[in-house]
Amino acid sequence: MGNPSGIESRAEDVPLVSVDEALRIINSYCETTLEGCLECRDTPDKGKVLHATKPVKVGDVILREDLMHLVQEDENNPLFRKLKKLCDDEQLDYDPLWFWCALCSFTNSDLPVGDGPHVELPTIGKVNQQRLLLLYKPQVCTPSESSLRVLEVLEIRVNQHLFEVLLQIWIHNCFEHSESPLGYSTYFMSSFYSHSCRPNAVWHYEGERYVLRARMPIDKGDEVTITYIAEEALMASAVTRKTSLVNTKGFVCTCERCIADHDKSRGMLCAKCTSATVFFPTYMREDSTNKRLSSRLKPTSIPKSQRIVCENCGTLPVDVVQTMWNDEKMLVDYIENLEQQKEEGNQYLQDLVTPEVVEKLKQFLARISGRGGASNHYAAAAACNLLAEWYQHKGDLPSLKESLANQERRLSFYKRTYPELNGAVAWALEDMGDLQVKIRDQMVAEGSEKQARKSRDDEDIYNTYAQSRVILSQMFGADHEYTERVDDKIAQIKRR
Ligand SMILES: [Zn+2]
Ligand SMILES: [Zn+2]
Repeated sequence: MGNPSGIESRAEDVPLVSVDEALRIINSYCETTLEGCLECRDTPDKGKVLHATKPVKVGDVILREDLMHLVQEDENNPLFRKLKKLCDDEQLDYDPLWFWCALCSFTNSDLPVGDGPHVELPTIGKVNQQRLLLLYKPQVCTPSESSLRVLEVLEIRVNQHLFEVLLQIWIHNCFEHSESPLGYSTYFMSSFYSHSCRPNAVWHYEGERYVLRARMPIDKGDEVTITYIAEEALMASAVTRKTSLVNTKGFVCTCERCIADHDKSRGMLCAKCTSATVFFPTYMREDSTNKRLSSRLKPTSIPKSQRIVCENCGTLPVDVVQTMWNDEKMLVDYIENLEQQKEEGNQYLQDLVTPEVVEKLKQFLARISGRGGASNHYAAAAACNLLAEWYQHKGDLPSLKESLANQERRLSFYKRTYPELNGAVAWALEDMGDLQVKIRDQMVAEGSEKQARKSRDDEDIYNTYAQSRVILSQMFGADHEYTERVDDKIAQIKRR
């Protein structure tokens, strides 16, 4: 009773696969379709992880994988239209496509025999469903009110627990496939890559295929990792990265950068000697006492008195450290506030960043990095970026040059913080190349560009784009749109 829509359903009815059996399925799939390039192992702390079975050079493709399952919104399907109307009329937990993905992941034998609304549902094969069920899902998948409501209104009599499990699998493993019609896809092997803030692999699409490339040299037996956060987000502090991963992916990152003694994204000018750079730890001062912070993010051990050491001054006195913590917090809060307003998009940059704000940013930069000095702090790099945009928007020649100087400061921070291949470095270089072109064109228009200067400028522009291209071609391949876009820009320089 109390089950008007589904069939009698218990959690135990959802097929359970042992860890060994799961590994066997995953590894035999890899053997037969991916030339056995990876091996899946089970670990106590991270669950399933993948290891390379042979060495791979930087830029080389590790594997190309076809998608396993694709589900798109389908206005021609009466069941989908009904589902969409239900989601419009009632407050359900998810958008219609999520429920639709789960509904389209039943096999024929999951559905009732004979006639009924279910005959309109596309089904999947047993093997594909078995693979789908091996992907990550939360421990407990009890059918929610929303899920039960969907099955009730659509009159689909299926195992409700299986429906919820499929729904959660889609939510946790899907890739955005298409925008119109909106479509989600899942990949099998590619769902098992774990995250690192210093990943040795990078993925990109090649049509519908999922391509994995080495962004660092990989040895036989190395764990293969990708980043779950954007390239630029890898430049942020360990605290920022860990917070974002906990909030969006539900795990605490313990990669080498997140547990290091010093955070290379948090370099501050020593407040005592004002010449050396000191690096702050990978946790926040208040973390250990902060009651609101998730216990999972609290540092397990805090070094005594949180010693901060300067190469000139030795261990810094508590009051000096205090000043630096405060300076840092002020800058971080200030930048976060500006970026949030910018993101909300209700203000033009020129209205948001007033000359007073520009002055304030410069003061922060002077305290944290020294005047014109190299920046070692992610918030200082973000300040440089805002200044670069502001000056570029002003548009006159001296402002464009000031913009370029700020872009250079941001780039040098990127390169020091993340010396390996990184897309954010490539795109920063591309932006700089674009700006150099703008400056050159402005000089030509003003008649201030002499012949000798012209060829030197062109060479500078070429070098900037070429550096960008080297990174992009290794990370995404020579045929990728990112690389081709820079190729076009290089060709234009050569045509001059
Ligand atoms: Zn990390
Ligand atoms: Zn010092």
